[in-house]
Amino acid sequence: MDGQKIEILANVSDERQSPGFAYIEFFNPAQKTQVAIKKLAIFWGIALLCVLIPVFHFVLVPLFFFLGFYFARRGYKAEGQVLGGETTCPHCHTQVIIKKQELNWPITEICQGCARVVRIEKA
Ligand SMILES: [Zn+2]
Repeated sequence: MDGQKIEILANVSDERQSPGFAYIEFFNPAQKTQVAIKKLAIFWGIALLCVLIPVFHFVLVPLFFFLGFYFARRGYKAEGQVLGGETTCPHCHTQVIIKKQELNWPITEICQGCARVVRIEKA
């Protein structure tokens, strides 16, 4: 897998922790801008389509316009992207697979074994 392998620690909001690893792709400023612009384009594209919906466009157009700003800003603040990873649930020891997602610490995944929210932080 591409990216940088880093050590992580998973917890379920108490003192128990379990180790794991994640593959991370860190973005440079140019890539961050690209991600932000892409998100803005998607949401503003939806906003433009909503102009065609009678009545609801009063709500939907400004909504998607602001959502575009919100997600573009979030995307810009993300340090990079999690390509994947693996850890175990500190509560029930079920394997927890980290899905591909934007990197915003802490990463959260739902344990498939006990349905607890597993918080994943840098080790
Ligand atoms: Zn669990």
